[in-house]
Amino acid sequence: MRYRVEVYDAGAHLFRVSCTFSGSGAGALRVSLPTWIPGSYLKRDFARHVLRFEALRGERPLPVEKVDNSTWQVEVEGEGEVTLRYEVYAFDRSVRAAYLDTRRGYFNGTSLFVCVEGREAEACEIELLPPATVDLQPWRVATTFEAVEVDEYGFGTYRAKDYDDLIDHPVEMGQFDECSFELEGVPHRMVFTGRHHGDLERIARDLEPICAVHARLFGGVAPIERYLFMTLVVGDGYGGLEHRDSTSLICSRSDLPLKGEEEIGDDYLTYLGLCSHEYFHTWNVKRIKPEAFLPYDLSREALTRQLWAFEGITSYYDDLAPVRSGIIDEARYLRLLAQTITRVVRGKGRHRQSVAESSFDAWTKFYRQDENAPNAIVSYYAKGALIALALDLTIRRETGGARSLDDLMRRLWKEYGEPGIGVPEGRIEEMAGEVAGCDLAPFFARYLHGTEDPPLAELLAEFGVELKMRPAESPADKGGKAATRSPEALARRADLGARTVEETGRLKIANVFEGSAAHAAGLAPGDELVALDGLKIVPARFERQLQAYRPGQSATLQLFRDDELLEFGITFQSPPVDTCELHLKEEIDDTTRRRRDAWLLWK
Ligand code: ZN
Repeated sequence: MRYRVEVYDAGAHLFRVSCTFSGSGAGALRVSLPTWIPGSYLKRDFARHVLRFEALRGERPLPVEKVDNSTWQVEVEGEGEVTLRYEVYAFDRSVRAAYLDTRRGYFNGTSLFVCVEGREAEACEIELLPPATVDLQPWRVATTFEAVEVDEYGFGTYRAKDYDDLIDHPVEMGQFDECSFELEGVPHRMVFTGRHHGDLERIARDLEPICAVHARLFGGVAPIERYLFMTLVVGDGYGGLEHRDSTSLICSRSDLPLKGEEEIGDDYLTYLGLCSHEYFHTWNVKRIKPEAFLPYDLSREALTRQLWAFEGITSYYDDLAPVRSGIIDEARYLRLLAQTITRVVRGKGRHRQSVAESSFDAWTKFYRQDENAPNAIVSYYAKGALIALALDLTIRRETGGARSLDDLMRRLWKEYGEPGIGVPEGRIEEMAGEVAGCDLAPFFARYLHGTEDPPLAELLAEFGVELKMRPAESPADKGGKAATRSPEALARRADLGARTVEETGRLKIANVFEGSAAHAAGLAPGDELVALDGLKIVPARFERQLQAYRPGQSATLQLFRDDELLEFGITFQSPPVDTCELHLKEEIDDTTRRRRDAWLLWK
């Protein structure tokens, strides 16, 4: 089987793809495009971007009929090779689909390569053609496809083992900067597309020890021949998608460190955390996989209650690796952790939906969040990471420090990841009990399948970390940092109980939190706030305007809902105690210190 990808019309964002194969006798042949891309649990129906699909035997067109949203049926007649030819409209800037303009091309195989039913297991070749128009600077290719015969720019022929492999190597083409590092003999390449002033050597230097920590956890050497980080740098953006031996990332220009900067700024740490996250997926989800993903059925949703382990545990380790590698210190790590705790505690939806349910319903809820999401759902990433933390500390406590979550991950790797066996539902919970040497069923019943918060304050205290909760200082307070005002002063802030956003100079309600002042007053998402007690509301000054009030005081709010001017009485409430600070305790005994060092510093 041979696929060929041409930059057909960059101005119209069209790739032209063909798929040629022999050995197909007469009869009906079904070909389809995936409805979703592994790693992103939302039906996207990639076939909707396909134009002018045709099938040919030699020069002769074959009858084609679309039989469902993603499937074509070709009536094959005669002898010889069959060619399927179509165009794909590619103008999705995210890491999940395909993009083409006059500067660059990018695609995931799920957007471009049709699957011929019955031939999923066959190896295939992929031919990448350079754009026909002459550019001042030639385009280059970055991909982890195995090269067969390529030119100095990377255009030419590549190989994939089967359809699953064919759709797991995204391709970037255009002009990009790059840097690299080597880890236990495995080359790691980083390419950056888009304008930026980042210090790439520095990034490679900081990322290498983080990747080394992950590899060490799983036994030393990553199970890959090469690895590729592909980053698209934009003005404002964030995201990533994991693949078997590469990852596609989007970051903001300001996330990258400038030459000469020595500090690791918060934005840069976010970028390193993203790289760390996707790299951990090389083991956890790309090789240790839920049974429901083996094989992937890309024609329908693959449902599992285990995403807390694949995304939550990965999120836990993505922040832990920088401190274990020595890139950041313990206090800095605790700031990140406190921010995760704050994010989780601020979502009332965690009392409504368990993390296991959030995983199962990811397709219709987590990936399709609406204005009520904070009241209705919980993130299997964020609360999943807290369950992973609680589990790690519990295993350490129960085994007197002899075992930890690291041991659970290594067992999952040995028993499921390495041999390529899918993890059955519930098996990770059972295995956690085996590693801890005690019954953890009640733990998972309460925190994973139930909606209770894991007892983090109590657990962290045993590891020499003090957890404090306080009200937020301002809407910008994400937690993690010590407040500049006393808890009493913070408790005097009037709380509106809604998240607001500025839209073209107007202040609009984005979310109304259940049980809040805004909820009681009858405010709704989308409301445009106009005046508070007769004074005009200006977005930049609203927070200050609000602080003329105290909890328990009332005011009149005027607003537009759609185009109707409405007036509401509102009684402000005390701010919720939903902001977390974590502190390293200084006065601790040797046992506690050893426990903490083993956890955070891996000593
Ligand atoms: Zn992830």
